[in-house]
Amino acid sequence: MGVTTSAAMSVDLSSLITSCADTISAHADELTALDQAIGDGDHGLNMKRGFEAVRGEAGALAGKPMPEALKAIGMKLVMTVGGASGPLFGTLFMTLGKEWPADPDRASLAATLRKAIDAVAARGKSQTGQKTLLDVLEPVQAALAQGRTPSEIAAIADGAAEATKPVKAIRGRASFLGDRSIGHVDPGARSAALLVRAVAQTLEPAR
Ligand code: ADP
Ligand code: MG
Repeated sequence: MGVTTSAAMSVDLSSLITSCADTISAHADELTALDQAIGDGDHGLNMKRGFEAVRGEAGALAGKPMPEALKAIGMKLVMTVGGASGPLFGTLFMTLGKEWPADPDRASLAATLRKAIDAVAARGKSQTGQKTLLDVLEPVQAALAQGRTPSEIAAIADGAAEATKPVKAIRGRASFLGDRSIGHVDPGARSAALLVRAVAQTLEPAR
């Protein structure tokens, strides 16, 4: 697959957890500022609390088989992130774990991500185009299915987060603002893009 399967499988989970927690913590203020503009300003702290809690268990998580580790990460996020995004990112990881392929390759991982995105959409009663993290996850899944490289997928995720700016929010707290939600990047979409880039860079370190 674009996210070269062999590389993906050889990368240890604790590096992935470290890079995800590092990027979320490094961008917590930015995520908070985005949420202050169209929400209640808790998204940065919510995500930082969750990913630091996951980091705290990285040793134990890395010793588990991938499906169990992903499910445990999802549950940890549900318990610690809070807000609307906790159950949504939690559902994403829990479903990735539940649907993790026995013999992962590009196609099966893309299918697994498809199911995880569908579970997030069901949980949020939301769909792509409503200015949420789904607006990033959807094009990332398509790019993965097409066999794009990790760095291409990271760039697609960044672009998709930025593309939420002119969109009017239809779901979540930002939707209460109606047209005033237009002109701001969605915080959850930005978080999703940060996580995608962290995973991509861990799988394909810049050369
Ligand atoms: P809260 O809105 O409860 O304060 P956060 O600030 O942590 O929670 O998370 C807000 C983010 O959650 C939004 O930017 C959006 O991406 C995502 N979100 C909120 N509601 C939904 C929903 N119904 N479906 C999908 N994503 C949602
Ligand atoms: Mg919030």
